[in-house]
Amino acid sequence: MKKHFLYRSLAVFCALGMLSGCSAGHTGNIDGYEDIDPDLVITRDEVEEALGEGEPQFAQSVPYEERKKDKPAGDENKASGNDTDTDTGEESEPVIEEYLPGYDSEDEWKTRDTGSASYIWEPTVVVSIFVDEEEDLWTEEEREYALGVCRIGFDFIKKELDEKYNTACNLYYDWTEDPDLRYDIRLYESIPAYVGLRDEIHINDLADEWVETIPFRDLMLKYDSASVAFIVFVPHEGCSYSEMHCLLDDRSTWNEMSVFYLQDMYSDTYAYETPTVYAHELLHQFGAEDLYSSAGIYSDETYAALETLCQDDLMLRTFTKINGVYTTFPDEVYGEISPITAYLLGIGDEDAVAEVPELIREKPACFPGSSLDRAFD
Ligand SMILES: [Zn+2]
Repeated sequence: MKKHFLYRSLAVFCALGMLSGCSAGHTGNIDGYEDIDPDLVITRDEVEEALGEGEPQFAQSVPYEERKKDKPAGDENKASGNDTDTDTGEESEPVIEEYLPGYDSEDEWKTRDTGSASYIWEPTVVVSIFVDEEEDLWTEEEREYALGVCRIGFDFIKKELDEKYNTACNLYYDWTEDPDLRYDIRLYESIPAYVGLRDEIHINDLADEWVETIPFRDLMLKYDSASVAFIVFVPHEGCSYSEMHCLLDDRSTWNEMSVFYLQDMYSDTYAYETPTVYAHELLHQFGAEDLYSSAGIYSDETYAALETLCQDDLMLRTFTKINGVYTTFPDEVYGEISPITAYLLGIGDEDAVAEVPELIREKPACFPGSSLDRAFD
């Protein structure tokens, strides 16, 4: 339990600003993320006691309505795994189906190092899971707004990678084009705005249950993809974050996921979460690191160098201050994908991090060590 608990709890990467904790109510100063959330220092016994209070309540995922009937020809065969060659009367060779493109079995797929979302240049299915809470339900308008924010953020990633790095990026996420990409969940509890350790374990367990009810493999076959990213949408304010697989993690951390809140808890007016934050979080799933010092992975010298080397990188900051006022950008992505983040995504060589060698990756686009190691670096 402890191992599981630690793995699950430490693979969290957040948009800039969240490490100051809920009590601050805002983030203000970029250098001021020193408060530790009290949840980060709870004991194992406290966690186990809390988890023992009752079984989590969750509902089955419900696919978005108005599903399209006209799937691509051959899709049914691929998705179901059935050999339907029965009309001709001819005997056919047994079809040995790949589990996913490039992988013969689930076992083989799960031995790779990247986790469920692989490389940013590979076609990736992005599954949206909208959580309706006990007292806070998504409206259709809000869902469409959140999709619009994704569209701005993800289009930005595609454009940056194409124009600066000549790298393709195909993310299949638009559930208005393909309703199979969206699922709605009824949850008879609330997801907190700031997810501390205890809540994180619980939400991971819930999300894994939801994912099991979603035909994500069928979707991946449909899009000829071996890469899948999950997004859990929460219908209120909070601090968006992501969970990633690290090189030494076991399969319990296989599914890679971002939690996107509708609104930004650090905004005085609870403005909607921005395309910058959504893009920042999704890039985590493909290997991007937080480049701000409170992430606490690298040395102070490295973070000082990163402040200069990639000052406009959206992995360094997702907001700015104008005349001392916390400012975000609802209609555009604030920042860029610097060569350093591109390298961490697996694009380019080590020259990009020559001045910050701590960032050199053992394997492209993969987080080193285990979630456990990283937390204590
Ligand atoms: Zn982050």
